[in-house]
Amino acid sequence: MYIIDLHSHLNLLPFPIPFIMEKFFSHRLKLQDYINLSKKLSRKIIISPALYNVPGIHFGISGLRRQIDFLKKEIRQTEGEVKIIYDQKDLKSDFEVGLVLQLESCRWIPENNIDKTILELKSLGIRGVIPIHFKDNWLGKACDMPPFPTNSKTDYGLNQTNAYKFFKSCKENKLWIDLSHMSYKSIADSYDLDHHTICMTHTSVQDVFDTPRAMCLRDIKEIHKRKGFVGLCPAKRFTPKTKNYWEMIQYFIDLGYEDTLGIGTDYGSLIKTDKGLEDYEKLFMSIEKISLDSEVKEKILWKNAYRFLEKTL
Ligand SMILES: [Zn+2]
Repeated sequence: MYIIDLHSHLNLLPFPIPFIMEKFFSHRLKLQDYINLSKKLSRKIIISPALYNVPGIHFGISGLRRQIDFLKKEIRQTEGEVKIIYDQKDLKSDFEVGLVLQLESCRWIPENNIDKTILELKSLGIRGVIPIHFKDNWLGKACDMPPFPTNSKTDYGLNQTNAYKFFKSCKENKLWIDLSHMSYKSIADSYDLDHHTICMTHTSVQDVFDTPRAMCLRDIKEIHKRKGFVGLCPAKRFTPKTKNYWEMIQYFIDLGYEDTLGIGTDYGSLIKTDKGLEDYEKLFMSIEKISLDSEVKEKILWKNAYRFLEKTL
């Protein structure tokens, strides 16, 4: 039995930033916290930590390398419980905590060097990408949440030429494409392109609580149709009350889409949550409380995400 969270953040910022960030981040999650949780729950844990793109701190391919080196050093300090998952063999292997690396934002990737950079991402161990993050970039229009003054007001969607090259390269290198943070039209445009696998790792349901980054029914249907994955996020901006989390789960069940949803917490980033969703244990207890078949609960806690990883890696 597992627990799988397909979007979280480990603190990979260089000293002394973690100490400053501590004031703002409610969860400073370390590998040891996940090891402890795995032991406490007697379940293996798989998380997909999002690697940062912070200009001046960790940016570009060198910033990515620094984060991965830092992470590997932390892994070496554990007692062999943590493993980076690169492929099917790793997924099925023995570990307490497995890490599937993803990259949040591709804005630094040079437009004229997409194939080479995607290949480099793959060789560094990245298995999924969020192409657009907060700011419009060379790939297309971002979702305005929070609004950035640099973002254009018109939703022009994806830059067709660049997006075609980018999606093709991700497909060839078996990287999943995460539509979280894209604008309404960018998301729609991406359905016309060919992918390896598609998902939204940290999102919510517009019909439960309407917020710019929530998924509308169109997107839920499209991702379900493509056998993708949707991670429901407990952050307050998506899920003001714990009961909204249950309502979002119920929404998928009512549509008959119980095989599409799972968890994407965004824990470790700048989020606030309602009390019942403050940490992993509370989140799991909360899911346990819903009157659903235990098999459906297991699908939400890990089975759907596991199937997605089996198909993707
Ligand atoms: Zn995000």
